Amino acid sequence: MTQAHNALAMQQAIQDQIARHALLGDILDSIIKMVAQQLPSARISLMMLDSEDGTLSLTAGHGLSDGYCRALQRLPVGPAIGACGVSAYNRDVVITENIEQDPNWVPFLQYTRAEGVASCWSAPVLTSNHELLGTFAIYHHYPRSPSLQERSLLIQSAGLLALAIARQRDRQALAWNEQRFRSLFTHHPDAVFELDLQGYLLDANRALTQITGFSLEQIKGRHYEQFMAEENKARAREAFKLVCEGQPQRYELTAYNANGERYWLDVTNLPIMVDGRIMGIYGIGRDITLQQAQAAELHLLKRGIEATPNGVVMADATLPDMPLVYVNKAFLNITGYLREDVLGRNCRFLQGSNTDPQAVSAIKEAISACREHECTLLNYRKDGTPFWNQLIIAPVFNSLGQCTHYIGIQQDITKQRENEEALRFQRSHDVLTGLPNRVAFHERLTEYYRLCRQQSRELAVLALNLDGFKVINDALGHYAGDQLLKSVGQQLAGWLNSGDMVARLGGDDFGILLPNRDEAGIIKAAESLLSLLEQPFFIKDQRLYLSASIGVATSDEKTHDSSLLIQHARLAMREAKRQGYHHWQWYSGSITSHIHHHINLRREIEEALEQGQFIMHYQPLVDARTGEIRSLEALIRWHHPERGLIFPGDFIPLAEETGKIIGIGHWVLRQACKDITIINASRNTQPLSVAVNISPLSFQRGNIFSDIKHILQETCLAPHLLELELTEGVLMSGAETAIDNLRAIRELGVRVAIDDFGTGFSSLSYLRKLPINQVKLDRSFISDITVDKDNAAIVQGVITMAHHLGLEVVAEGVETKEQQQDLIMRGCDLLQGFRFSRPVPLENILRLPSMLPE
Ligand code: C2E
Ligand code: CA
Ligand code: CA
Repeated sequence: MTQAHNALAMQQAIQDQIARHALLGDILDSIIKMVAQQLPSARISLMMLDSEDGTLSLTAGHGLSDGYCRALQRLPVGPAIGACGVSAYNRDVVITENIEQDPNWVPFLQYTRAEGVASCWSAPVLTSNHELLGTFAIYHHYPRSPSLQERSLLIQSAGLLALAIARQRDRQALAWNEQRFRSLFTHHPDAVFELDLQGYLLDANRALTQITGFSLEQIKGRHYEQFMAEENKARAREAFKLVCEGQPQRYELTAYNANGERYWLDVTNLPIMVDGRIMGIYGIGRDITLQQAQAAELHLLKRGIEATPNGVVMADATLPDMPLVYVNKAFLNITGYLREDVLGRNCRFLQGSNTDPQAVSAIKEAISACREHECTLLNYRKDGTPFWNQLIIAPVFNSLGQCTHYIGIQQDITKQRENEEALRFQRSHDVLTGLPNRVAFHERLTEYYRLCRQQSRELAVLALNLDGFKVINDALGHYAGDQLLKSVGQQLAGWLNSGDMVARLGGDDFGILLPNRDEAGIIKAAESLLSLLEQPFFIKDQRLYLSASIGVATSDEKTHDSSLLIQHARLAMREAKRQGYHHWQWYSGSITSHIHHHINLRREIEEALEQGQFIMHYQPLVDARTGEIRSLEALIRWHHPERGLIFPGDFIPLAEETGKIIGIGHWVLRQACKDITIINASRNTQPLSVAVNISPLSFQRGNIFSDIKHILQETCLAPHLLELELTEGVLMSGAETAIDNLRAIRELGVRVAIDDFGTGFSSLSYLRKLPINQVKLDRSFISDITVDKDNAAIVQGVITMAHHLGLEVVAEGVETKEQQQDLIMRGCDLLQGFRFSRPVPLENILRLPSMLPE
């Protein structure tokens, strides 16, 4: 084989080595071997370029000492640096035939001499892109220049070196690329996975195993659909199809982890393109379960704020003048503004002329201090109408603790305020007349009393009661009565001077406070009140004349309690009535004895019940046609151990005031039932019934129904022989319990009569609805029936109408034969009165004949 052939074979072997990715060192060895074979005395160096500082360093060689290698490190590339520096600089072959004579070598002579080299041929090692990698040089120990062949060997060797180095660099870059890519895959915080074109999982990173809870072994080889919720499969399949066609996809899906828990994934699918062909699919999945939950929560919150009936606003605290950035629907509803009217504006457009400036500055203060604040202030709607706004404002802080927003929650409490005011008015005012009520009167009394004492002035309290109001009420009905009270209230209110006060204390009782009058002034006031009420009132087209009685009491050193004043005034008013109505009376200390009398009486009633001091008298009710006794009215009397026989008029009202009447009523009922059975047992005529007066209080508050039931059982009295006498007022009060009680009692078979019946026509029509049996005409109508034509007409009307309703009529207080005959003529059914018998004790009844004067 020729040398040339040999060189060619070696060159080919080196190229093979390069193609096989042999180690760079081995390739270098082969190149050196190739050069050495052709130039046996040559020494060889490879200097590599440091791409960072641009210097050349001898890195490999043949036949060169370590010392020389150490010396040729970090040589600059330049136009006058040995042969290699210049070759690198010029990117061309440089031949130094004689080093000793080349000025470029001067700095290196000490080394070349020591090494014994005299010539150097250097070629740049350049990539195909002319990138400099280093230099390849051949030294000789004597001066010489290369032959043409030798020169091409130099260039070829440098070329082979360049190829080998470039290849190695490429491979390294590829490996790095691969590793870089791998890092992205492995360390990506989102799940990254690779699918084949059928959808089977080929690989996945750690994040996927963490999100799904499945191990890599469990994941690999399975189809992606096996991991997702049924409802997402169609969507995912569609996406998969598109990505297989080269279109990246992004979508959200729900899937189940290894514990069977559902989670949300934001998935991106990308095609894996290699040389223009889709080889597989990459998936990137982000766990958005938390975001989904937060989004849902946020959505709910937002809807909640939208739905709340309270106005909610948000202002940006970071912008000048804190413009509104959010308002909810309720706010718009309350204020009447549109969203575009208010967003971007400061909330103060809600304020107006009557907004309390103090409330506004309190809000400002709270805002500048970043404090929460609560207040109620008057705001204005878009249409200018005011409303009461109950406002809570609160700062909203960011994560750095800075106040970025203010939230305001408003409530329109206008209605509530109005209701409260109405309620306050109702609490202190009488509904019918609109005058202050008893509570307000007492409050003012206490206040005036204190002031007057401080200033050593007299305070006058007047108790005013209408005369005969009950009669008017009964005669014209309650509606007319109410109208009359209203008119009286108006008159009194109009009469007042400033500082005076009038209140309705209940019924037809009025209280008047006069804080600024002397004695003469008070008398003048009382007189003018009396004449004020003398003026006719027009009710239901009727002209009514009224009168009133007034009691006056004034504060002096002796009265230590304001409430005593009103008591004194009342006592004086009663005294005025006793003296014949339409009159005023100044309270004089002597009346105090009445109070003591009353207090004693209260205690004595208790004793009387305990010691059996009460007794029953009975007064017969006589059949008007036959004169036969039909029934007996039980009337109580008190056998007082010191004061003798006391009549009910003297203790029943107080017993009613104190509630003692309930105990008395119970006793009366039992006694009357017992007595009537004794009476009936002693007579061999038709059995008599007994009529018992029932006080309103017993009827409304006592256990009247069960009392009656028990007493009937106890005494074995037939129910139809018991008759209850109730006054109209009990039932007219409209209390449902009263009517219910009445029905239940009637169902027992007990009879019911309306006592003291006046001329209330309207009342009669009301009575029609009640289960009653009898009407007892009041004594006042009977007394002058034979002389007063008006009264007679009323009596006739009642009898006719009562009969029409199937009710019996009793006339009370029949004293004369004339009255008896008149009533018989008018068709009255039963008569009662002194004409037949006064109320008498039980033993007298037993002696009474069964027929009384006809
Ligand atoms: P009243 O129910 O209207 O009873 C009739 C009253 O008229 C009785 O007065 C009776 O004595 C009186 N009287 C009867 N006939 C005549 C007459 O011809 N001329 C005159 N001038 N008077 C006559 P009394 O007994 O003084 O009773 C007064 C009121 O006391 C009764 O009025 C009744 O409201 C009440 N009362 C009496 N007993 C009881 C009782 O046991 N319980 C309750 N709750 N009230 C009673
Ligand atoms: Ca009666
Ligand atoms: Ca009566």
